[in-house]
Amino acid sequence: MPQKGNRTAIKQTHMNASPGQTLRTPRQLARIGLVKSTDVAGLEQVTTRYAMAITPHVLELLRQPEEGNAIARQYLPSVHELIATPNEISDPIGDAAHSPVKGVIHRYPDRALLMPTQVCAVYCRFCFRREAVGPDYGALNDAELETALNYIRQSPAIWEVILTGGDPLILSARRLSEIIAALDDIPHVATLRIHSRVPVAAPERIDQALLDVLAATHKPINLAIHCNHAAELTPAAVAACQRLRKSGVALFGQSVLLKGVNDDAVILEALFRGMVAAGIKPYYLHQLDRAPGTSHFAVPISRGQEIVKNLRGKLSGLAQPTYILDIPGGAGKVPIGPGYLSGDDNYLMVEDPHGAKHALPAG
Ligand SMILES: *Cc1c(COP(=O)(O)O)cnc(C)c1O
Ligand code: SF4
Repeated sequence: MPQKGNRTAIKQTHMNASPGQTLRTPRQLARIGLVKSTDVAGLEQVTTRYAMAITPHVLELLRQPEEGNAIARQYLPSVHELIATPNEISDPIGDAAHSPVKGVIHRYPDRALLMPTQVCAVYCRFCFRREAVGPDYGALNDAELETALNYIRQSPAIWEVILTGGDPLILSARRLSEIIAALDDIPHVATLRIHSRVPVAAPERIDQALLDVLAATHKPINLAIHCNHAAELTPAAVAACQRLRKSGVALFGQSVLLKGVNDDAVILEALFRGMVAAGIKPYYLHQLDRAPGTSHFAVPISRGQEIVKNLRGKLSGLAQPTYILDIPGGAGKVPIGPGYLSGDDNYLMVEDPHGAKHALPAG
């Protein structure tokens, strides 16, 4: 399915864009016909505010006639991003209030985020940290990293460290290995998690040097892969997932419910089946966090619940993520999927996957 594109067109695109080069400006997009040249000035306003990057792998996907639009909406800048609405906030889930030292966010007692870099392989147009990611925000230097690691060393409640950012998998294998080895040595840290878009955005980066680093830890590594459409699970991405699994990394899927990308039960079914077939357990389907200039991606929760309800019964339980909301302001993540129970302790009704109601015995 993901290979159905027009191969000739793709080859030409690569030639024009010079193969291997990541596109970073609207002008480059216009040069290869991905945006109109008359739109460049407007789009430059967007990309001076929010970083843009399109890897050669994503560019190839963008050129596919069938799925191109679902990919384009995720990565091509749009003038809609300049529209701020009153319910949007620059730090939608209140990260800043829970940051004890630079590069660490500690909101829940048992787990902390460690953000070694704010740079990503690609920049999603709906990113909830869009005001804090991009090449301008850089990476922790040695002293800052040491301070962040010391905070974790001195916080015995931290049982899980979640490497995020930015995208930790764009770091060099050497830098990543320093960080992972340091975490491996902290006795109270039982397990590591990495959040990344790299396996689907730049799968060639999952190379032997990186795999060796991941395989060298004693603690389990869980990798949450951000992927929103089955078209992103290209043969190269699936092969990268296979390499990761063979290196002992457990794979989880993280998706954001996005208008015009995946706000449809058929599309999500294909995504979650594609994930499980690639060895990825769908973990969370996120309600969009309301970062500035993202209102064109918003799907009402009622619609999200309807879509999720449609998948229940039809789709393997293994392929069902939890529909989740990060409460604006930083109060935490909660499941917001549809409810199936009604009534009270004396008279409970339960709805089955076909919509029929059944009485449950009291008590
Ligand atoms: C999302 C998040 C986590 C991870 O939450 P899980 O429900 O364990 O996936 C941890 N810390 C912060 C600050 C977060 O935003
Ligand atoms: S990869 Fe993650 S952090 Fe980077 S832009 Fe996309 S959503 Fe944001």
